[in-house]
Amino acid sequence: MKQYETVIGLEVHVELATKTKIFCGCSTAFGGAENSHTCPVCTGMPGSLPVLNKKVVEYAVAVGLATNCTITQNCKFDRKNYFYPDNPQNYQISQLYLPICRNGGIEIETEEGGKKTVGIHEIHMEEDAGKLVHDEYGENSLVDFNRSGVPLIEIVSEPDMRSAEEVIAYLEKLRLIIQYLGASDCKLQEGSMRADVNLSIREVGTEEFGTRTEMKNLNSFKAIARAIEGERERQIDLLEAGEKVVQETRRWDDAKEYSYAMRSKEDAQDYRYFPEPDLVPVIISDEWLKEIKERQPELRTEKLERYKREFQIPDYDAGIITSNKHLADIFEETTAICNNPKKVSNWLMVETMRLLKEHEMEVEEIKFSPENLAKLIKLTDENQINSSVAKEVFEKIFDEDIDPEQYVEENGLRTVSDDGALRSTIEKVIAENPKSVEDYKSGKKKAIGFLVGQTMKAMQGKADPGMVNKILTELLQ
Ligand SMILES: [Zn+2]
Repeated sequence: MKQYETVIGLEVHVELATKTKIFCGCSTAFGGAENSHTCPVCTGMPGSLPVLNKKVVEYAVAVGLATNCTITQNCKFDRKNYFYPDNPQNYQISQLYLPICRNGGIEIETEEGGKKTVGIHEIHMEEDAGKLVHDEYGENSLVDFNRSGVPLIEIVSEPDMRSAEEVIAYLEKLRLIIQYLGASDCKLQEGSMRADVNLSIREVGTEEFGTRTEMKNLNSFKAIARAIEGERERQIDLLEAGEKVVQETRRWDDAKEYSYAMRSKEDAQDYRYFPEPDLVPVIISDEWLKEIKERQPELRTEKLERYKREFQIPDYDAGIITSNKHLADIFEETTAICNNPKKVSNWLMVETMRLLKEHEMEVEEIKFSPENLAKLIKLTDENQINSSVAKEVFEKIFDEDIDPEQYVEENGLRTVSDDGALRSTIEKVIAENPKSVEDYKSGKKKAIGFLVGQTMKAMQGKADPGMVNKILTELLQ
């Protein structure tokens, strides 16, 4: 059998985090009653005129700079003509001739542990369309224009990826860059990041690209990976059977794990693009560009290096903590208060991750305040509470952001460090458990575990297990 190579390029749409839409003052907030975030501009009323939101340009430039693109300082908008019920103007304002960013690229790690650059052909600004809502009887479709005019950037990669793993690595890296810039929350489920996959196959060793198809409707990394595998197999089967791949747009049905044809793939000329007559060209002066450059925040790679250097935490910790901007922010704020980076990192990597998984929550949903985590770390550092009490208190912090000092006080959870009180409890436990004492003395050293447990129980968990162990050993001599 012939050996095939998969060639993949991505078109990624990202909704920008501006408060208002790209060409009007309507809110971009997700949700909200249908058609409540609308005005004559974003519903395409005749005579209404667009006014460009400056923040959209700044976010697009910020993403371009962070992905090593050249910024088009003299760029403009074009009109892409097409009819669809969720597009009230019958055209979309986009960019074809002079996109705002070009010729960039980001580095990803490959499966073999090497590095590879995925080129970025261009990034352009455009407006989002509305949303069709189909009724449950399958008879009527309604339209919600809240999303119409929400600013988007479309990031078009070069066909540089060769596997689903590379695609996921690219998307994860891109998402992290954009999240760090604060340009978008990039939530695939809510549609603020959407990826279309262009895929073709060719025989290993050939230069020429095969005919590609485009797959839409992919709303999770897992769906993207499955769609790539499915489409690759479908195209190989066609070629093996002596048939041709047709250039078309396909919709991936993740439940059925199959893609089906939507429409033949259109070319730019099908849209009769022409320069947008209602908007003036966008001139990005050297001064403005410099301002945006100076405002660029620290990105992941720089942060990771700084954490290792400044906080002396291991590579592994720094990698996990910087894998999410929100987590990194909590880490830094907590460390600034308690000055104990390794302990902060442990609470975030172990207990926080465990609770997130248990509650099926995203890192972005963490609500507790750095102050309370810092207070908890202080309580454990001072041996005021033992580790099992600390875990219990942390769950309360995680769920309700309680003040740990107050909680420990009110619930009497402070470790009993009074040697006398501990000693008399242990004496009582020894007297009540002659069998275990006998076992211990006859060489079954494990029996001490039971006695420690009994003591902790009698002390309602508020003793220091190390101290209990020490006193018990001493008394059993
Ligand atoms: Zn509007």
